[in-house]
Amino acid sequence: MWRNWGGNQASVPIRWHRPTTEEELVAVVRRAAAEGTTVKAVGAGHSYSAIACTSGHLVDLSGYDRVLAADLDSGVVTVQAGIPLWKLADELAVRGRALEVLGDINVQSLAGAISTGTHGPGIGYANLASRVIGCRLIDGQGQVHDIAAADDDAAGEAPLLAAVRVGLGALGLLSTITLQTVPAFNLRVIERALRVDRLLADLDAVVYGSDHPGLFWFPGSDVVLVRQRTRTDEWPRPRSKRAAWWADVAVDNYVFDAACSLSSRFPSVARSIISGASAKRPHEWVDRSDRVFTTPRLARVLEMEYAVAPEVFPEVFERLGRLVDSVGTPLPVPVEIRWTKGDDALLSHAHRRDSVYIAAHVHHRQPYDQYFAGFESIMDDYDGRPHWGKLHFQTAETLTPRYPRWVEFAAVRRRLDPHGRFTNPYLDRVLGPITTDAEGAS
Ligand SMILES: Cc1cc2nc3c(=O)[nH]c(=O)nc-3n(C[C@H](O)[C@H](O)[C@H](O)COP(=O)(O)OP(=O)(O)OC[C@H]3O[C@@H](n4cnc5c(N)ncnc54)[C@H](O)[C@@H]3O)c2cc1C
Repeated sequence: MWRNWGGNQASVPIRWHRPTTEEELVAVVRRAAAEGTTVKAVGAGHSYSAIACTSGHLVDLSGYDRVLAADLDSGVVTVQAGIPLWKLADELAVRGRALEVLGDINVQSLAGAISTGTHGPGIGYANLASRVIGCRLIDGQGQVHDIAAADDDAAGEAPLLAAVRVGLGALGLLSTITLQTVPAFNLRVIERALRVDRLLADLDAVVYGSDHPGLFWFPGSDVVLVRQRTRTDEWPRPRSKRAAWWADVAVDNYVFDAACSLSSRFPSVARSIISGASAKRPHEWVDRSDRVFTTPRLARVLEMEYAVAPEVFPEVFERLGRLVDSVGTPLPVPVEIRWTKGDDALLSHAHRRDSVYIAAHVHHRQPYDQYFAGFESIMDDYDGRPHWGKLHFQTAETLTPRYPRWVEFAAVRRRLDPHGRFTNPYLDRVLGPITTDAEGAS
């Protein structure tokens, strides 16, 4: 049985494959095509949605993780698709390079991360997939496509790379990925707790005051923890191992959660815990970019995350406050808020729209229906787009109007996977079942 990290999704594949060459990848797809069964690649299983579930052939790419080429002048790097982000970051660091931005954790596979539109923080920085400039993809018939950004411009048809960048695993198996990297950089971090009214009164100072701000709001309280991260040429001044463990493991995973649990019933106790724990955290340090962006996430949670336009944030946030008050039960995990730049992947949640991502969490054993349904209905009113790797209740019908180039994605899907070799119940729900060209046109 395969299970995701959150423990809320499981499936029983026909067979588990662990290929180490492209030929083996192709062979799995051809075998499934001959049998009339399905295939699904899985990365690190760090999606909360059922996007990676399969009752067909499961392709585990954890052994397909090498750097194949790195041009240090241009910064263009080609890797096998299963490479985990931590390994990629280390491989780049020894070459004096880095990924432009990362999310909160580094354990995902690169293919998994780009396929769901994984993003980091920063209004000037688009998601990880936006740095993909080429790839090799095996389609539903077992044919290998070498796809480059330039082909998208030349093609009269729906653009392949713009579809594949955030492809939801629906278009084929990614074999290799070519990325534009940036010169290695350090980040200076400054953390401070802020009252919600102060945040809203001077929002621009937070959004534009550093390159990569991230916010954690303690639901039911008036406290927001603001983490400002600024690119710097300063030498690293990392925290001691003990201080980093206290801040990233103990406080982020457990102490803040305890404070959240108390905040609706005992706001003053929660406030004291937050400020006490914050006071014991280092408030300023400098370190290698990937070591700042990502931290260990140990407490098992479930998450729903939506992207909306930045200008609606104050209204959405105010409604979220009212929702939290109405839920009645304590919400034990902070709400995370990050701004990102728009991009042009056809099904990116930030497609042609700078976005603010708002993420609601619960503990993995806690019921979430009321909270998440309420959260989603707020997001529905603002044309919100759900993160593909996180929980949501949307369907193809509700999602189609939110993506201006939905039809082009569907055309690429029909072209690369006409027989639904890569589909599963989640994709049938959110993208609709595969239709033939004639049906799709009708
Ligand atoms: C604790 C935690 C923190 C997170 N933080 C963030 C964050 O900061 N920002 C953010 O945006 N997201 C975040 N996420 C979500 C996470 O980044 C995405 O769900 C991501 O897709 C997980 O990558 P994975 O390697 O585990 O992929 P999986 O979940 O295993 O798979 C995801 C999708 O990718 C497809 N896929 C995998 N490999 C291939 C391949 N070779 N070819 C084609 N398709 C493939 C799968 O079929 C599936 O459709 C977080 C998740 C967790 C659990």
